[in-house]
Amino acid sequence: MKISAATRVLAIIGNPVAHSLSPIMHNGWFADHGLDAVYVALPLQSEDPVAAIRALGQFGLSGANVTAPYKETAAKAADAADDVVANTLRWAPNGALTAFNTDGAGFVAALTEAAPDWLGRARRVLIIGAGGAAIAIGKALSPNVDAVHFINRTRTNADAAAALLANGHSLRWEDMEQGFAEADLIVQATSLGLEDGAAADWPVGRCRAAAIVAEIVYRPLETQLLARARSRGLLTVDGLGMLIHQGARAFELWFGVRPDALAARRRLIAALRS
Ligand code: NDP
Repeated sequence: MKISAATRVLAIIGNPVAHSLSPIMHNGWFADHGLDAVYVALPLQSEDPVAAIRALGQFGLSGANVTAPYKETAAKAADAADDVVANTLRWAPNGALTAFNTDGAGFVAALTEAAPDWLGRARRVLIIGAGGAAIAIGKALSPNVDAVHFINRTRTNADAAAALLANGHSLRWEDMEQGFAEADLIVQATSLGLEDGAAADWPVGRCRAAAIVAEIVYRPLETQLLARARSRGLLTVDGLGMLIHQGARAFELWFGVRPDALAARRRLIAALRS
């Protein structure tokens, strides 16, 4: 790739971002589409992150993805936002900043790819977690299912997430077994399962035979939850799918064309193995 003064710059903003897979994913797509653009990781440390994000537009940044802990900050920094939490930013040529959240749609696209018939199967959803990603997924699934149950270590956060949805409910963490037993679709959306984190002892044995089990953590790609669900013969969805499809939607917002999800998966699996 030849970088010149005309090369467009895009970035992932967060802290930390050193291990982000987004640069590999987007730079791969830039090459696929012959775009004169480069995607970098920008660790943000600022007393005033709203001002710092807004300033990026003054340097001519075209677009950005945003990860923890700045997703709410990004929505606040924008002139217009489709949600109070944003993972994608787009600067117009006149400097106007628009914020989007592609996490929910990205999850649904990954689910549809892995389980094309999920709509007919998933009436009752159990979302483990009540953070930004869990809420985005809940909002995206809610109109298509009968009930969305949040179960979270901190019950008050599950209550708050449930209150955002017309068909939202919350469960006590102690009721995990019941939650697993009654769900058609289980979505693990806490940070548990990360390589350096302690994996929970999920009651996979209680799952319905037709249950779909989805993860949003992708390091490792096969979490303990997915491994155990697969060994029970359940349909599973890994966390890489959401990463790729939220990124594909961001790419489309910036460049007006949907990139190749399969090519991204090949590159990202190679990166995770290296
Ligand atoms: P948040 O910080 O907003 O939420 C974290 C959630 O994890 C909370 O529900 C928190 O519970 C729970 N949690 C954290 N530690 C524990 C623990 N030890 N035991 C039980 N629950 C715990 O993070 P996000 O929602 O933004 O992200 C969650 C995970 O999803 C991260 O690992 C992130 O990397 C991943 N992610 C993946 C995406 C993808 O594209 N695949 C996209 C976005 C996120 P509590 O309320 O009690 O603190």
